[in-house]
Amino acid sequence: RQKHKVTVIGSGNWGTTVAKLLAESTREHPDVFEEEVQMWVYEEKVTLPKTSPHYDPAVGDEPQNLTGIINKYHENVKYLPNIPLPSNVIANPSLQDAVKGSTILVFNFPHEFINNILRQVKDHILPYARGISCIKGVTVTDDKIELICEHIGDTLGIYCGALSGANIASEIANEEWCETTIAYNTPPCDIRSANGSSNGSESPASSNGEHKDSRGQVSKTKLVPLPLDYPPLDHEEFHKLFSRPYFTVSMVSDVVGVSLGGALKNIVAIACGFVEGHGWNMTAKTAVMRRGMLEIIAFAREFFPETIQEKTFWEESAGWGDMIVSCTAARNWRYSKMAVERGVSVQEIERTELNGQKLQGISTTREVSSFLRSRGLENHYPLFMAVELILDQKIKVDDIPKLFRK
Ligand code: NAD
Ligand code: 13P
Repeated sequence: RQKHKVTVIGSGNWGTTVAKLLAESTREHPDVFEEEVQMWVYEEKVTLPKTSPHYDPAVGDEPQNLTGIINKYHENVKYLPNIPLPSNVIANPSLQDAVKGSTILVFNFPHEFINNILRQVKDHILPYARGISCIKGVTVTDDKIELICEHIGDTLGIYCGALSGANIASEIANEEWCETTIAYNTPPCDIRSANGSSNGSESPASSNGEHKDSRGQVSKTKLVPLPLDYPPLDHEEFHKLFSRPYFTVSMVSDVVGVSLGGALKNIVAIACGFVEGHGWNMTAKTAVMRRGMLEIIAFAREFFPETIQEKTFWEESAGWGDMIVSCTAARNWRYSKMAVERGVSVQEIERTELNGQKLQGISTTREVSSFLRSRGLENHYPLFMAVELILDQKIKVDDIPKLFRK
């Protein structure tokens, strides 16, 4: 019997943290998963300072490949410093090589790089691979809004679910307890009957690789069923793979709620940073969070009316949980607050203070507001639009209350 091979595509702050927890799980479940977890690294040169425990006088100040450092010292010194990684996380600078033979692809990089990465892996993955996207963002193309997980699935011809929640990478890397939500709709062709055969081999209706998309329609992507000599891939197996004693996983089927909650809260987190940087406190931030959540739900109702499950926003870590942590402790909040305090742009702070990490909220704000403007819906989403106007220095934080005056 075959085992599932896991590849994490991406190795930033969250990508490396997720590779760590997956590598712990694959060791714990050798009957289902291959032990080694491949982690694709966008290669870059890193110079280790003399104060680093890995500083080698023979190498001196010579810049070294980040992949070499990760594989030698089992630490991502640039994006997740001071966290030991299990030795079965293998950093790989080649995308094509990293995805080769993997049945489980975990997408985890800033969303702006998505099309370039998908183009490079497209012809190199197994046709029956399955994906989980940990990316928080949306894809706006030709005036159309797409969930990142669905964009991945449609581009690669596979099924891809979504993971999102109140998750600060550095805390999870330190094994502080938290929760997350994974949305996965096992495609009909992968559902096994009691005797172990796939539905696909028994029922003509599901044997053609059909599955429903996030709008409840039959997807244009036809899936190749997962071969029967692999263990099934269903909620149980993904739960096994992602759960750790310090990482509680809730499995659901609502890819829309999980994806939109994770993407759109970044706009609200920037607004909270602006408000706090301006000198206002928890009451103002609470007003922003409440209105932000109402705009997220309105957005989901407007563009995914057939499938929206509002309870995800109330009950899951990917809903209110992520909103709260993002507006009080995460990077989009922290660095937009710093930008207002220093009187510089958020983009400037991203360049100078984040050491290569990315603020997803800046591009998500631009993509979502341009999408809404193209549909003449600006007035329905005053908070989302205000964040763009403040980013572009067209209005001031002081102007926010006016937008909501009845
Ligand atoms: P990050 O902010 O650490 O981003 C840096 C990564 O981008 C690095 O791996 C870098 O190598 C890569 N990169 C830079 N230029 C690139 C290029 N041209 N092509 C490809 N890659 C390039 O990334 P992250 O924190 O791992 O975030 C990944 C996703 O996870 C995001 O959507 C984020 O919203 C989400 N997320 C992050 C956290 C967190 O706490 N960090 C938590 C939950 C979700
Ligand atoms: P930041 O990217 O703003 O750090 O958000 C992390 C996150 O998604 C918290 O759940």
